[in-house]
Amino acid sequence: MHLVFFGPPGAGKGTQAQKLISDFKIPQISTGDILRAAVSKGTELGKQAGPLMAAGKLVPDELVIGIVEERLKEPDCKTGFLLDGFPRTIPQAEALDKVLSKMGKKIEHVVSLEVPDQVIHERMKGRGRADDSPETVQKRLDVFREQTSPLKAHYAKVGLLRTINGVGSLDEIYGSIRKQIGA
Ligand code: ADP
Repeated sequence: MHLVFFGPPGAGKGTQAQKLISDFKIPQISTGDILRAAVSKGTELGKQAGPLMAAGKLVPDELVIGIVEERLKEPDCKTGFLLDGFPRTIPQAEALDKVLSKMGKKIEHVVSLEVPDQVIHERMKGRGRADDSPETVQKRLDVFREQTSPLKAHYAKVGLLRTINGVGSLDEIYGSIRKQIGA
């Protein structure tokens, strides 16, 4: 199962991703996690990425593409993977296609978990974390939508986009993901 997973912050993507990777026995590849690990280890990559991440900016495409390309060659990706946080730009999506086709693979489904802003605000209120102020949440949602809308259009055009209603019980949502990916 070769999946890309999109979902705004606070949409419950983490929970659904966990279920998918455990049921399909595939690794979750999160570029955010890989970059954060590089920053805390203080590697060359981390030194380049750290200041950009702290400023809420994207890390250059070449860097992230390189990371993902290496990661996809690991043996645990043989039967599939769930990409989380990548691709974030059209050049990343195109590079991903190229890398995969060299490996004789392709993305099967791009799962987009859809939750209205209002609902995300309600959920975040309940968490009460400092970085969950309504303004900060809205900013993150705006950035997310701005980044993902061209990608969603791209994947819709090639027939891979599966939009999922992310409002409902965890089981209901997981059920609709399974149905949409035909599993
Ligand atoms: P979020 O905290 O919004 O879920 P992530 O954990 O996916 O975001 O990523 C954290 C940061 O890492 C991003 O804000 C960005 O600076 C960098 N990053 C992660 N993935 C990518 C990517 N595919 N392209 C560019 N930068 C990325």
